[in-house]
Amino acid sequence: MLPYGRQSITDDDVAAVVAALRSDWLTTGPQVEALETDLATWTGGAGCAAVANGTAALHVAYAAAGVGPGDEVVVPPMTFVATASSAALLGAKIVFADVEEETYTLDPAAVAAATTARTRVVSAVDYAGHPADYDALRAALAGSDALLLADAAHSIGASYRDRPVGSLADLTTFSFFPTKNLTTAEGGAVASTNPELLKRARRFRNIGLVRERAEQRWPDEGGWHQEVHEFGLNHRLPDVLCALGRSQLRRLDAFLARRARLVARYDAALAELPGVRTPGRRPWARPAWHLYPIRVLDGRRREVYERMRAAGIGVQVNYIPVHWHPVFADLGYRRGSCPVAESFYAEQLSLPLFPDLTDSDQDRVIDALDAALRGVPARTAA
Ligand SMILES: *Cc1c(COP(=O)(O)O)cnc(C)c1O
Repeated sequence: MLPYGRQSITDDDVAAVVAALRSDWLTTGPQVEALETDLATWTGGAGCAAVANGTAALHVAYAAAGVGPGDEVVVPPMTFVATASSAALLGAKIVFADVEEETYTLDPAAVAAATTARTRVVSAVDYAGHPADYDALRAALAGSDALLLADAAHSIGASYRDRPVGSLADLTTFSFFPTKNLTTAEGGAVASTNPELLKRARRFRNIGLVRERAEQRWPDEGGWHQEVHEFGLNHRLPDVLCALGRSQLRRLDAFLARRARLVARYDAALAELPGVRTPGRRPWARPAWHLYPIRVLDGRRREVYERMRAAGIGVQVNYIPVHWHPVFADLGYRRGSCPVAESFYAEQLSLPLFPDLTDSDQDRVIDALDAALRGVPARTAA
């Protein structure tokens, strides 16, 4: 089965991991800080903290923002469940706000309507790698104390009005899962333009340990002394995986260029295909395409999904609206509350997109889609 996404690993990546394995450090060593420094060249200089995965990045970011019981966190439903669940675990009430047509990113007007005095964080998601409308989201938050978070699991390397993702929100989270734009197997990072938030993120990532003597309550206890002032968890990313991340980052430009090229080929091939709609984009966005999300019209998404799977094409659906999950349904969240996201979900299909996808495999995807839409078997099965 041709997957919808997969990693690209070279001998250089393998050598970087082996070198780290043979070094004195396996967990927290020099590669962690080096990866964080390398990442900051992609975030316009915003400081970064490497963490264990993208879900941990969200948990760390919400903890750094001080999210707790009594707070509200505004989230779009068109995302992976972790954008919401990591804040819910900290005791926050999740408030879903609908997305915009065309880009399926958080709608600033819906945010303005959803924000209250209790809103602690508003989380935008750069769906498919297309940045949300950050200036409009800031404007929607004018007069509120809420922080803006960017879940950039799809969008490292993208820019908004010539400003890089990572520099647009108070807190930005990345995922380095194998299907994402670069990988460390499991891994992620938090970026912040605010040094105080970054410091809180680093502490939560490391069990809450306070090692700076000047900040300890009982600094004269002895050289071994460390303190916990606020609870944290072990959400650290090991040195071995940071070495892989540094090696991958060297190819991120090439990954993004290949993804953009494949998207242009899909756009051209699908433009004249009846029964589907290709993803939109705004003139101010330079996306870092992680997904190629099409809409399959006329109620045929499930049929097309099944026909393509039968033809060996691993299409995917991203995502089930988050408030449809039973855990939210049981809390009283209702279907129908975010109609733009929900009608998009009913038609959404992600076509294979990853740097090592060849032109001929992509042509096979396009042929299989054409056959599925015409209701005939694909010419070639994988
Ligand atoms: C992948 C993803 C996450 C979670 O990242 P993991 O590394 O899988 O934990 C969070 N949000 C979005 C939008 C994602 O796509």
